[in-house]
Amino acid sequence: MENHREDTRDAVRQLFDSVDAISVQGYDQERRVVYWNVGSEKIYGYTAEEAIGQKLEDLIIPDHMREGVVSSHHNWVVNGVEVPSAELTLRSKGGQGVSVYSSHVMFRNAHDEYEMYCIDVDLGEVKKAQSQAVSKEELLKGVFESIPDLFFLVTEGGSIIDYHAGDNRKLYVQYENILGGNMADFLPEEVAAKFRNYIEKSMQDDGVLSFEYCLNLPTGKAYFEARISHLAGQRQLVIIVRDITESHEAAELIRQQAYFDSLTSIPNRLLSLDRLSQMIKEMERNGEKAAVVFLDVDDFKKINDSLGHDVGDRVLIEAAKRLSSIVRDSDTVGRLGGDEFIVLLGSLAESFDAVDVVEKLLNAFREPFRIDARELILTISIGVSIYPDNGTSATELLRNADAAMYQSKERGRNTYSFFTKQMNEMILRRLEIEAQLYGALERNEFEVYYQPKISLKDRKVMGAEALLRWNNPLLGQVTPDEFIPIAEHTGLIVPIGKFVLARALAFLSEWGMAHRQEYTVAVNLSPRQFRDKDFVDFVKECLGSSNVSPERLEFEITEGVLMIRQSCVDELLSALHALGVKLSMDDFGTGYSSLSYLRQYDFDLLKIDRSFVSGITANKEDRDLVTATIAMAHSLNLDVVAEGVETSEQLTLLNELGCDVAQGYYFSKPICSLEMLAFNLKERFKTDC
Ligand code: C2E
Ligand code: CA
Ligand code: CA
Repeated sequence: MENHREDTRDAVRQLFDSVDAISVQGYDQERRVVYWNVGSEKIYGYTAEEAIGQKLEDLIIPDHMREGVVSSHHNWVVNGVEVPSAELTLRSKGGQGVSVYSSHVMFRNAHDEYEMYCIDVDLGEVKKAQSQAVSKEELLKGVFESIPDLFFLVTEGGSIIDYHAGDNRKLYVQYENILGGNMADFLPEEVAAKFRNYIEKSMQDDGVLSFEYCLNLPTGKAYFEARISHLAGQRQLVIIVRDITESHEAAELIRQQAYFDSLTSIPNRLLSLDRLSQMIKEMERNGEKAAVVFLDVDDFKKINDSLGHDVGDRVLIEAAKRLSSIVRDSDTVGRLGGDEFIVLLGSLAESFDAVDVVEKLLNAFREPFRIDARELILTISIGVSIYPDNGTSATELLRNADAAMYQSKERGRNTYSFFTKQMNEMILRRLEIEAQLYGALERNEFEVYYQPKISLKDRKVMGAEALLRWNNPLLGQVTPDEFIPIAEHTGLIVPIGKFVLARALAFLSEWGMAHRQEYTVAVNLSPRQFRDKDFVDFVKECLGSSNVSPERLEFEITEGVLMIRQSCVDELLSALHALGVKLSMDDFGTGYSSLSYLRQYDFDLLKIDRSFVSGITANKEDRDLVTATIAMAHSLNLDVVAEGVETSEQLTLLNELGCDVAQGYYFSKPICSLEMLAFNLKERFKTDC
């Protein structure tokens, strides 16, 4: 029996001798150390040598525990009350606290004495790991609190397993409700659908998916960005939600500036055209019709010029308001620029449905515009094109609505026109002309014709007007009335005009020499040419190279040029006048306030427009106007030219009224240079007047 006890003790000692992770100590009945393994040395710092023979309470027991340890040990030896295992903080050789989990066993040795063995597991490492674990959690909490994002851990079905919200107010619902609930239950259906959709997607895709959504919170509209990542192994998803309201508002501001007109706050050209493209796609899908309405305020330039830009701006704001008030919310009213507006009417059952709205738009201007104490009467001209009848692309529909608008202007304004087939043909023709006009000069397709001008005093040819002719292989003969406006629009009139001038002066020199006469040549000038910086130099150069004196060159300018009222007009006219070149006012009587221009600029000649000349024999009003014009011109020292003279009656009358020069089919149509060189006034003309 005793042997058995000894054996047990020895076995325990052997077992623990080399174990350094656990401290095993043996104590005799007086609590003196009888066994001390390497683990004990490691934990408590005493070597076995140092420890053997020392008393337990002197060695590793802190002072405050001494009594308790001694009496518990005594109680065990005498009364058999076991000392239970416990977590204790004992003391090392250096005096530091050592945390251990301590278990105890009691043996009776061969001498029938009690020996107690303590088995202590060092809790230091465990404690350290534990306290680290705690601080990691705290750290995480701190992170969550300091950043504005919301974190959700959800199941693949969308149930919330866990969440972190730095600021609980950021949660859409009170947080008690959130755990275990479904993401979708807390969100408006539209947003919930988005979540479901993206959760689904993220389970198929790798990586992070993100999307934005908007919520109406008690504090106002808020914008969020959600990022979803699927943890396939866990069959869970991490959702991180960030409040992006601020950056969204900044972006919205930029968007507003890029897409909306700053004056009227309605969509600008960019957005309007974008909406038009969108509308076309939608109508195509639904098989519906739509109307593109092009609106232009009549005579807006006059308001700007006479009342100032401030009034003009306020008129535009009011116009935008009135137009917007008429259409449905789903329709677009946009400003294309200047005084041009666009209205897009989608989902029409038939094109005729647009008529109603268009009439309302027109009537929106019936009420006068009240700006300060002023009442302004404004009208608009409207053009309408229909998808898909008049085009299937944005460009086409806009172009056709624009063409229809011009039709309204021609019909006297304050009206609307729908795009028609004839307009379409006209546009196609215009496009063809434009295409052919490029390169026509280089291909030598132009020729300058001349129409003789006859002096009524001495009944002689005194000069000619240069008139351009264009013969294109594809289009044939194109009249100047058709191609000149296009040449002006494209700017091609600048090189073409120079060509006419150079040819006309070269011809003038040749013509004069052939007849030994001092003829004049009149060349038409387009408004666009006034912006050509080196035009004056070019005129000088041509006069020099053709050896023509400046007073034999006339420039015919229409009132349209003078109405531009740009400094370039004044500059060019002064420079030409200074050169000694003559200036002629063309098409007199067709414009607005011609008289003031005649006084303002140094004109030398005045050309009465063909439309009055054709009326003078039959129409008293025309005759009166011509009479007055001639008298007025003479009082300003201007010579008067009558254009478009076709009959001897007209000629006789003009002669009686004191007209100086006549030009027209009666004498000759415009003819080519060779014919002009050979031209002789027929005998009967010499006696006619
Ligand atoms: P415009 O300056 O008023 O030219 C006079 C127009 O009246 C010419 O038409 C001429 O052929 C036409 N005409 C002359 N006499 C009569 C007549 O007795 N009866 C009728 N019915 N018509 C007559 P054209 O040559 O077709 O030119 C039309 C317009 O094209 C010109 O009107 C002018 O504005 C412009 N144009 C012609 N050549 C040039 C040019 O070289 N440069 C510029 N900028 N414009 C030009
Ligand atoms: Ca002319
Ligand atoms: Ca004319």
